[in-house]
Amino acid sequence: MRYHGTVIRPPSEARSYILQVTYGCSHNRCTFCGTYLDKPFRVRPLEEALEDIELARQMLPHTRRVFLADGDALALSARRLIPILDALASAFPHLERVGIYANARNLLRKSAADLALLRRKNLGIVYLGLESGSDEVLRRVRKGATAAEMVEAVRKARAASMRTSVIGILGLGGPALSSAHAEATGRVVGQMDPEYFSMLSLMLVPGTELHRQWQAGEFQLMGPEAMLAELRHVIAHLDGLSHCIFRTNHASNYLPLAGALPQDKARLLATLDNALARGQSALRPESWRAL
Ligand code: SF4
Repeated sequence: MRYHGTVIRPPSEARSYILQVTYGCSHNRCTFCGTYLDKPFRVRPLEEALEDIELARQMLPHTRRVFLADGDALALSARRLIPILDALASAFPHLERVGIYANARNLLRKSAADLALLRRKNLGIVYLGLESGSDEVLRRVRKGATAAEMVEAVRKARAASMRTSVIGILGLGGPALSSAHAEATGRVVGQMDPEYFSMLSLMLVPGTELHRQWQAGEFQLMGPEAMLAELRHVIAHLDGLSHCIFRTNHASNYLPLAGALPQDKARLLATLDNALARGQSALRPESWRAL
């Protein structure tokens, strides 16, 4: 397989065949994100993507899941995505699902008919980085979308029968905005009603604007227990979910949690209360954390 630069995918796509159809991220301005700082956004030529699919057909003929990279491959129009999805369907007879990262703009720019067509072509799950439900936090980190726009985008994907997986970041507002960040994130995720919701814990990446702000004393990083208390606050404000798999299984987190919401809400809150009472001994050591 041929890859260009750093390639990331959600933890749940660990066993998927990863196909780059774009390079980088079309936004690439979030202050906390260093993933594509050295890789300007570019659309990969279709012929190259099709050649890779042919290689994968020979090497991984039993592929059931494919993930389209990089950072927001749904920046591609439906017209560009359809030949890729068709080629994947013909190459892999056992194909069950194609996944993709998307931002609000990618989804809102597409018509309902285009999203429904992409769904029929196996595009089954969209991963969207909400990061925070607070517009103030989103503005500070230059997310490029409001919480209301992201709610609308997720609802649009769901209306096209795509599964949605939403990601938030603990500590993104720092101590000053922690309460607003947690309450708004819980409320907004409830409005989105996604099938999956996960939270990462902020880790500063050298070279990013947020790292620079931290070095200059303009941003305060929260400690592990404060992040855990923030997570409790998020879960306490998560209402209105139909059936959502919740996880904090990312390597950046201090405490891995898993459950289904709303039914496991009391159990998750009790686990967090217990960990908060035990303090550092209940948490993953700092040296084990990673992005
Ligand atoms: S967080 Fe997502 S949208 Fe923001 S720059 Fe990174 S890849 Fe792009």
